[in-house]
Amino acid sequence: DGDGSARSEVQRLLRADLRGRTAYGAPQLDVAVRLNTNENSYPVPQVVVDAILAALADEMAGLNRYPDREFTDLRKALTTYLEKQSGVSLTPEQVWAGNGSNEVLSHIVQAFGGHGRVALGFTPSYSMHPIISETLGTTWVDGMRGSETFDLTAESAAAQARAHEPSIVFLCSPNNPTGTALPFEVIGAVLEAAPDAIVVVDEAYAEFARPGTRSALTLLGDHPRLVVTRTMSKAFAFAGGRLGYLVASAELVDALRLVRLPYHLSIPTQIIARVALEHADVMLATVEVIKQQRDRIVAELARLGATPVASDSNFVLFGGLADEKATWQALLDAGVLVRDVGIPHHLRVTAGDPGETTAFLEAMARLAPTHV
Ligand code: PMP
Repeated sequence: DGDGSARSEVQRLLRADLRGRTAYGAPQLDVAVRLNTNENSYPVPQVVVDAILAALADEMAGLNRYPDREFTDLRKALTTYLEKQSGVSLTPEQVWAGNGSNEVLSHIVQAFGGHGRVALGFTPSYSMHPIISETLGTTWVDGMRGSETFDLTAESAAAQARAHEPSIVFLCSPNNPTGTALPFEVIGAVLEAAPDAIVVVDEAYAEFARPGTRSALTLLGDHPRLVVTRTMSKAFAFAGGRLGYLVASAELVDALRLVRLPYHLSIPTQIIARVALEHADVMLATVEVIKQQRDRIVAELARLGATPVASDSNFVLFGGLADEKATWQALLDAGVLVRDVGIPHHLRVTAGDPGETTAFLEAMARLAPTHV
């Protein structure tokens, strides 16, 4: 048929290394309780909605012009937020942003990866790290973690970094999908063991970390090859706003201007993100209740006989399932959507609001006798 021949024609013309791949993405299903993409379940507060609408109204007549290519006001707002959140002093020249942290990760790979270069990550981790690397022509090496609790020690990470001579190393702390923050020493050990690598610490979930977790931002002053990525999609409850960012040396950030597309952040994006950042306290007001739900999930799943992994994030990976695909479907039948991250006997669930968390835990309690 026509569709079939068009498909094979496209496959014939497609880059050989992309043939047969399927696109990334969790199912976007219309389910009552959606706990599969680590969003913040709480809507944007009305005071912020009002402030965003007022700011947009002032600027919409200016859409005939291109936006500020260097997103100066947004960079200042991100710098102010980060300094307050982390206690580290930064300049706007050290901050870079994109349409989600996926885009800033792609800028890193475009500038520092490419053909003949290796990117190393430690599996299981965020699955977009290999996808961004490989689709931009960079060889991906799947490093390893401990098999039971998915831990990564400084010794193991350093040995693997030395062995593969990467141009980019991806660390993820707190790690998705396991939830746990890395031991802080891993970062310094990898910087030392991979002297020719850009070391990226993906801190998408940093604001949810348990007390005592130290951010890689505190190392930036000493390491011009270190990059810390963050996002407004998780704790900030702004996934639909599409704003991710990174912090690094001013020199490294300047190099990213070589690969970004001009005017990549639209005028509306720059405005809504800046206004949301000006209301950071209100936007982040739900973080504590989400952390409580996360801790509740860990405790309750353990009581049900499952094996939850310690979490510094807004989600929990849990093992001990007889058949994770059957449990995923049974939860969906009960109106609760969770994530199958491809680890046998495990599923991942986002901590929602207390009602959503209760719905998930009640469904799990009903399933536990046969599924766990
Ligand atoms: N890094 C990690 C570890 C993530 O889990 C996610 C979202 N799933 C992202 C980056 C990308 O998020 P965004 O593009 O929305 O900033």
